[in-house]
Amino acid sequence: MEIFKDSKQAQIEPEAGVSGLDAVKQVIAVASGKGGVGKSTVSTNLAVALAAEGAKVGLLDADIYGPSQPGMLGAQRTQLHIVNERLQPISKYDVKFVSMGSLIADDGPVVWRAPMATKMIMQFLNLVNWGELDYLIIDLPPGTGDVQLTLAQQASLTGAIIVTTPQNVALGVAKKGLRMFQQVNVPILGIVENMSGFTCSHCGEVTQIFLGGGGKELAEETELPYLGAIPLDPSIVESGESGHPLTSGKAESVGAKAFIALAAALKERLKEQAKSEPLEPSSYGLNDKGDLEISWSDGVAGRFTAYDLRVNCPCAACIDEDSGRRVLDVKKVPLDIKINRHDKVGRYALVFEFSDHHDTGIYRYDRLREMAAAQKEKQAQSGPESFEV
Ligand code: ADP
Repeated sequence: MEIFKDSKQAQIEPEAGVSGLDAVKQVIAVASGKGGVGKSTVSTNLAVALAAEGAKVGLLDADIYGPSQPGMLGAQRTQLHIVNERLQPISKYDVKFVSMGSLIADDGPVVWRAPMATKMIMQFLNLVNWGELDYLIIDLPPGTGDVQLTLAQQASLTGAIIVTTPQNVALGVAKKGLRMFQQVNVPILGIVENMSGFTCSHCGEVTQIFLGGGGKELAEETELPYLGAIPLDPSIVESGESGHPLTSGKAESVGAKAFIALAAALKERLKEQAKSEPLEPSSYGLNDKGDLEISWSDGVAGRFTAYDLRVNCPCAACIDEDSGRRVLDVKKVPLDIKINRHDKVGRYALVFEFSDHHDTGIYRYDRLREMAAAQKEKQAQSGPESFEV
């Protein structure tokens, strides 16, 4: 039987024009193809390790199907409060933390319908008074369903970390997760191999419990960064059960050191990513003629009329997916077409609603940059722009 839960607490509308993520620098999803691989353990310890180094960190437990963060942070009994229509996160180990688990009153299993679950999580993201954060870590529900996909698109993720265990079966599902993020252009920050060999606390010998290709091989195969391995360590289970994350105390155990190394690898990766081509525009908007003006921090800039954009619509109704040929009959596009509305899609694209009601094209930033470069070249060839008076 499907049990459908709703929560009155999360039914508040956000304040107009205010986003809970406005002052959040990096939004990082921690994902896995399946449950039980240690995604929540990694999210919690990573968040606490980053905070221990002085960063401002938030942690959202979006794992509605098995919220385990309140337990791992020793916050099972802490109630969320609403101040000025904003949910106040709970502060634990210097991490601002909110869990979908805090909204579920009983311990019964909850089957959330995907649209409701996604709506709740997005409300959570936008309604929480996160304040200024260097990192917001989102512990995603396991799998690659609608909830994960919508969040990947709507939560403006900086990137995703994929957690896997070393054996082949887990690697197969991890690949599925990778593909999902790649489809929606969310950068994969790296792969973490959890439960990666057991280190004997007496003799230090490492025993590989799970056989298989390993996260490192997956990273090599997919040409993605490998962020490191977390060993199978009984003190990790203990710390999860007791509500004291391993990275919160003296980082002496092998496990704690591995999480600290993971936090360092992540920071390094984020620095590298920031150096690559700036995909997100530094500014964009419609000018008084209704044209899109868009520019990037490295000086690339373009100005496109609604007509330019409409005839270049990349959606499946306008471009044949197999041949890449345009099937849109441009003669049918009114010359005086206008943009009625524009919206961001994650951190990678814009979407427009035109006055002919067409709204299915996702204009990726990389494509808009190419259009801007082509426009500049055309202008250089035809000399300075002449304006009619
Ligand atoms: P997920 O979020 O992927 O469902 P959890 O983080 O809840 O997985 O971890 C599942 C169980 O495995 C928990 O009991 C946790 O303490 C344990 N666990 C996770 N990582 C490790 C590890 N590296 N060593 C030992 N136990 C671990």
